[in-house]
Amino acid sequence: MGGQPMIILGEDSQRMKDRDAQSHNIAAAQAVAESVRSTLGPKGMDKMLVSSMGDVTVTNDGVTILQEMDIDNPTASMIVEVAETQEDEAGDGTTTAVSIAGELLKNAEDLLEQDIHPTAIIKGFHLASEQARAEIDNVAHEVDPEDTELIKNVAETSMTGKGAELEKDVLAQLVVDAVQAVTVEADDGETVVDLEYINVETQTGSSAGDSELLEGAVIDKDPAHADMPTAFDDAKVLLINEPIEVEDTDADASLQLDSPDQLQDFLDKEEEQLREKVEAIAESGADVVFCQKGIDDLAEHFLAQEGILAASRVKKSDLGFLREVVGGNVVSDLDSLSADDLGSADVSYDESEELFYVEGTGDEAHGVTLLLRGSTEHVVDELERGIGDALDVVAQTVSDGRVLAGGGAVEVEVARRVRDYADSVSGREQLAVEAFADALELVPRVLAENAGLDSIDTLVDLRAAHEDGDETAGLDVFTGEVVDTYDAGVVESAHAKRQALSSATEAANLVLKIDDIIAAGDLSTEGEEPEGGAGGPGGAPGGMGGMGGGMGGMM
Ligand code: ADP
Ligand code: MG
Repeated sequence: MGGQPMIILGEDSQRMKDRDAQSHNIAAAQAVAESVRSTLGPKGMDKMLVSSMGDVTVTNDGVTILQEMDIDNPTASMIVEVAETQEDEAGDGTTTAVSIAGELLKNAEDLLEQDIHPTAIIKGFHLASEQARAEIDNVAHEVDPEDTELIKNVAETSMTGKGAELEKDVLAQLVVDAVQAVTVEADDGETVVDLEYINVETQTGSSAGDSELLEGAVIDKDPAHADMPTAFDDAKVLLINEPIEVEDTDADASLQLDSPDQLQDFLDKEEEQLREKVEAIAESGADVVFCQKGIDDLAEHFLAQEGILAASRVKKSDLGFLREVVGGNVVSDLDSLSADDLGSADVSYDESEELFYVEGTGDEAHGVTLLLRGSTEHVVDELERGIGDALDVVAQTVSDGRVLAGGGAVEVEVARRVRDYADSVSGREQLAVEAFADALELVPRVLAENAGLDSIDTLVDLRAAHEDGDETAGLDVFTGEVVDTYDAGVVESAHAKRQALSSATEAANLVLKIDDIIAAGDLSTEGEEPEGGAGGPGGAPGGMGGMGGGMGGMM
């Protein structure tokens, strides 16, 4: 090596190091966080997202916004992952998690400016996050599983600001009832909630207040044939995931016909095959058939003749849920079909609603359906997202048994405790622990901001109340007053809050660890329009500044 620099990167690759890389990443992450902040809380606004196909989504849900946004900046994507983790692990609190991640990074940037090494910041954030989660456990209130009023409040808190809010009284009760319907006491005394047994179905044309909770399943399908019966008490139900059609001859086999008779022969054979299939179904004793695949026209006709009610192309997830409701097995081969495979249920088809109602009648029948109604597709979609969040947090609350005072109360209290803890941390990490505490207070600040209140005044009032020992003092966003939010019924799942803190911290630390960005393609820092193909299969991270353009068009 005679002093020649070694070139290891391709000609087009670009590189950004140290402070440049950090600032770049922090700015990108913050841009994402800021894009969802305005939706936080009951007074948060909604966003309208228009996809490249022209599909419109109106939502207040953090994870939905970020998923629909066309983000091609790699750091920004890391923040989107925070929302996704939060959604998977807790179902609610996505905006909170992302906003805190952004604020952690913003505060980290200040520390970096003061020449504090990233490893000290990372360490401090990590310590603070652990402490914060321990403090959440300390301030959490135990929930009596019988206290449906409190559990309903958890549902209502998670619905406020969402499409579900206007009818939140009715809907929160439905959510609580649904979760209770699928809650069982396990042998070891643990409370287990199986959300798999709750199916959410949507129907347009009515209002949210007409939503209902039904035993069993609701299937959005029509009978396969007009002459089929439409109602059965205690029917035998066949669930099948194979088509009821003529079995394909070999894909590339061609049919050699020498005379018209042969064609007739061929068609007769097909008819015979279909007739056999339908006979097998009839012989098993089935009254109703839900088929995941297609049913041949002729087979539909035969089924109708046999007095069997059938629906084709039932969604796979619906079929799985139907199995829970009616019992029996999902059949994939009619040749081996037997009566044991059938489930049992009261089945009826409502012509005006165009829905099947299936209520299991067997011993093992379980499963309920939340039938959500709303005037239009956009309304029910947003309703479904809000209800999904509420189901998750109510299920957590019932099984985990702990809740927190919302409206920023828990954040201010935990921030106060983390600041106390900071005194025991030595060195520069202490500054990072304090910066973490400050970041927590973003929640009440943004809640105030979104409600058109002065965020500084609000924070000062809240801190004073907490200094006075009022652990549950939070913001009433409707009056601007500091109130006891726990008593006011603004309560949240402790599990979701813990998860929000840990995923926010992990993401912030992940971003802070990076001191070198090596991009196989362009690494421009100025906003360029994102292109559909950027960062595509080539693995290039695409325009680093592309995000600005992408979001600017949407927000
Ligand atoms: P996320 O996606 O983080 O769940 P939300 O938009 O659902 O975001 O807002 C949640 C925040 O709103 C929580 O901090 C919660 O305490 C607060 N909040 C909900 N309802 C109220 C209320 N009635 N008054 C004050 N704060 C509320
Ligand atoms: Mg929420």
